[in-house]
Amino acid sequence: MLTSGWKSVSMVDVHGKVTFTLWLCGCNLRCPFCHNWTIAEGLDCFPLDRRTLLDELESGVFLVDYFHVTGGEPLMQWRELISLFAEVRLLDVPISLNTNLTIIGPLEKLLGAGLVDHVATDLKAPPELYGLPTGATERLWNLFLRGLELVSDYGLPLELRIPVAKGLNQWPHIEEGLRRLGTDFYVVLNPLVGKPLTNPRDEEWCSKHCWPGAEVGELKRKLEELGVGVYVNSFGELLRETPRGLGDLTKKFINSPKEP
Ligand code: SF4
Repeated sequence: MLTSGWKSVSMVDVHGKVTFTLWLCGCNLRCPFCHNWTIAEGLDCFPLDRRTLLDELESGVFLVDYFHVTGGEPLMQWRELISLFAEVRLLDVPISLNTNLTIIGPLEKLLGAGLVDHVATDLKAPPELYGLPTGATERLWNLFLRGLELVSDYGLPLELRIPVAKGLNQWPHIEEGLRRLGTDFYVVLNPLVGKPLTNPRDEEWCSKHCWPGAEVGELKRKLEELGVGVYVNSFGELLRETPRGLGDLTKKFINSPKEP
């Protein structure tokens, strides 16, 4: 498997939980706001030393609520992921999968095999946030809706993350997504941020749509009116989902702003 690293104890990758987090490389989407695009594109990646990972997980298993796998899109390496999860199962630690929910066949295999206990996903609204041509985004959006239904059908708890953009009408697609869900979910609103805090894939897109203002409170109000539990990430916390974490990113993007 190709990885960009892991963190043996993380407090920021699943809301309110302690995780052992592994980042896997590759992705089928090209989200313009993505600050993990080097991982998504397979840069800064190396073969996973599975034995070392499992030994480290085993020695810290009493500390964590979930073994959490993120990326990139972990299901790009789904065959290897199934065998990794099967080995993690032997350590008796619950498994959390962060996926964009568009790689449906492999997702069904993992859920059907009982290898996932918790799912996290981004509801990217409108689907232009996938960063692909219009026809593809429509297909991907429908796959995503099917993915939400699958997670509900299997009764898995879901962390539904919503990247909040500036100047886009996000609500119709958010409502459409919520209609596919059961009751065991909560929403985390992630205001999109750009430089100097992150290094988004498409800086021009980000200059128009990152750093939302009133949009965050407006979405929170609408969700709460529907009775949905909502958490809002502060900008500092948004730097989860990177194996380097805040320290390295601030060093890279604040102290050396000219670096890509
Ligand atoms: S934000 Fe997630 S789904 Fe989108 S390109 Fe980045 S890793 Fe892939």
